[in-house]
Amino acid sequence: MSSAAPPSATASPAAVVAEKVSKVFFSGGQPVWALEEFSLELEPGSFTCIVGPSGCGKSTFLRILGGLEERTVGEVTMPDADHPIPAAFVFQEHGVFPWMTVLDNVSFGLRMTGVPAREREATARDWLRRVRLEGFADSYPHQLSGGMRQRVAIARAFATGSPVLLMDEPLGALDAQTRMLMQEELIALWEQERKTVLMVTHDIDEAIILSDRVIVMSGRPGTLRADLTVPFARPRSFDNERSAEFGELRARIWDLLREDVRTAEETA
Ligand code: ADP
Ligand code: MG
Repeated sequence: MSSAAPPSATASPAAVVAEKVSKVFFSGGQPVWALEEFSLELEPGSFTCIVGPSGCGKSTFLRILGGLEERTVGEVTMPDADHPIPAAFVFQEHGVFPWMTVLDNVSFGLRMTGVPAREREATARDWLRRVRLEGFADSYPHQLSGGMRQRVAIARAFATGSPVLLMDEPLGALDAQTRMLMQEELIALWEQERKTVLMVTHDIDEAIILSDRVIVMSGRPGTLRADLTVPFARPRSFDNERSAEFGELRARIWDLLREDVRTAEETA
């Protein structure tokens, strides 16, 4: 190997690095450790899902990465951050502005980064087309179904141009069948765009269907329990779900989670 090889020929730097991140909240004067020394590195263009029991700090971790919450201890870096656009969020619900049209919602993220009006609108319309909402540009969110609203939120996140998308149970409020359709759409968009995605889900199948890696967290305070590679090729086929490999991975993840989910359920 040539020593003159450009840096890109060696292992590419991680897009997101979290090192021993801990977070304490004070609840009625009592400290509650939401996260404990939680570390994670994400490769550029990878799709990673986090699963973990309720209350283990998944949302807190995403919010820390996105700068919406301060960490108590630890380091977070996004070496991709010569990129001027911060990580974009997709939340489970209420992530779109009810007083803005669909078009304005999608172009909102671009407005924050100073893109000129005409270009914003063109980009937003392009993204509306890609999520099959071109006919709803002038509608308001309350006029849409839940699935359509989440398509608006997803389009907005991609449209920002941010290299890192943080998704907190983005399909969690949808009915099971809409959710399956949305999984297909999300994976198709991502396979075209290859953003670095970190997504929280409580649905083990969804985590395996969508991601390259599944991070399993322990109960609160959330620590890393397992970091599992999903072996299926891209582009993903939904036939994977019928394979023995899929079933084994699902069982393995559930084995890792079961006791902590029970404890979280009984102490909530
Ligand atoms: P998850 O998303 O995994 O269900 P969260 O990150 O929302 O969990 O919360 C982790 C823990 O931190 C929970 O015990 C929650 O009650 C607590 N917590 C989260 N946000 C706050 C806050 N702003 N103030 C106090 N406690 C909080
Ligand atoms: Mg949460």
